[in-house]
Amino acid sequence: MSYKAEYIWVDGTEPTARLRSKTRILADGAELPDWGFDGSSTNQAPGDNSDCVLKPVFVVPDPLRGGENKLVLCEVYLVDGNPHPTNNRARLRPVAEKYAAHDAWFGIEQEYTFFQAGRPLGFPETGFPAPQGPYYCGVGADEVFGREIVERHLDACLEAGIKVSGINAEVMPGQWEFQIGPAGPIEVADHLWVARWLLYRIAEEYDVAATLDPKPAKGDWNGAGAHTNFSTKAMREGYDAILTACDALGAEGKVEEHIAGYGAGIQERLTGQHETAPWNVYSYGVSDRGASVRIPWQVQVDKKGYIEDRRPNANIDPYNVTRLLVNTCCEALEK
Ligand code: ADP
Ligand code: MN
Ligand code: MN
Ligand code: MN
Ligand code: MN
Repeated sequence: MSYKAEYIWVDGTEPTARLRSKTRILADGAELPDWGFDGSSTNQAPGDNSDCVLKPVFVVPDPLRGGENKLVLCEVYLVDGNPHPTNNRARLRPVAEKYAAHDAWFGIEQEYTFFQAGRPLGFPETGFPAPQGPYYCGVGADEVFGREIVERHLDACLEAGIKVSGINAEVMPGQWEFQIGPAGPIEVADHLWVARWLLYRIAEEYDVAATLDPKPAKGDWNGAGAHTNFSTKAMREGYDAILTACDALGAEGKVEEHIAGYGAGIQERLTGQHETAPWNVYSYGVSDRGASVRIPWQVQVDKKGYIEDRRPNANIDPYNVTRLLVNTCCEALEK
């Protein structure tokens, strides 16, 4: 007997990486070996020196193929044994280790938009749907588009053991969100990448594309973000640590550093409109959905908890976002 292992990896597409995957048949009970691929077809190597290496790092049961079959998220390596330059997970590992004692938790709200025939799902063939208002958390065929895919995706995530914590319909028609977490900096990102793969794979069966485009419809339509909720042990125990983290994110040089790692095209989404703060003006506030960083109302009441960085784009590499937040906030908390 044998089983199917779907090897999944993050490619080198600029400016936003994509997912790739291919299937390996393995003998029953066989360990997952390292594997290779043609890096010249994924923007990860030149044609005359094209071999890249896949190293399995996170394995879950495959909820689509069922049985003993597996989904295998991999890190990409060079043949010389070093992590590939596009391997942001490898860049995160030492930072996560250095600040492990802080026990950082993340909850990432992944927004995305369904497209069919080049239009957001639910948009008429020409012109536009009724303005935003009724779609967010809506119900009914005139307001909600793609629910069957969303429900199948949620079930698949749960079956695979992905730490999904909820879903909701978003402000623009055809736009949805799922949340991953709370989980540690590497774990939340691994789970998010596999959840994305499942979303694309399931939507494929409906002839629908799910996109992480941060501004999928120009004009008066909400963009798509990946609000990142963050806490450390100290933040979960007291308010001083919450304020320290908020101030650290606004420090000299940190605003630019974070924006640069929060997803391509972030300036087009963080305009100061549509529940965003302008990308170049850092602010934080209690309950403020127009701030860069929000302190949830309940956190101010309890005087402990977590903060929400509202800046990250839907198209983030989560390994970059968790690395930046851990590095900036834990460094400040140790001062
Ligand atoms: P919003 O009100 O902004 O839409 P959501 O409910 O969509 O928020 O997402 C909140 C996320 O924050 C969830 O994924 C949740 O698991 C996560 N979360 C809750 N508590 C913490 C915490 N202490 N540290 C980090 N993340 C947390
Ligand atoms: Mn071939
Ligand atoms: Mn949310
Ligand atoms: Mn949302
Ligand atoms: Mn949010």
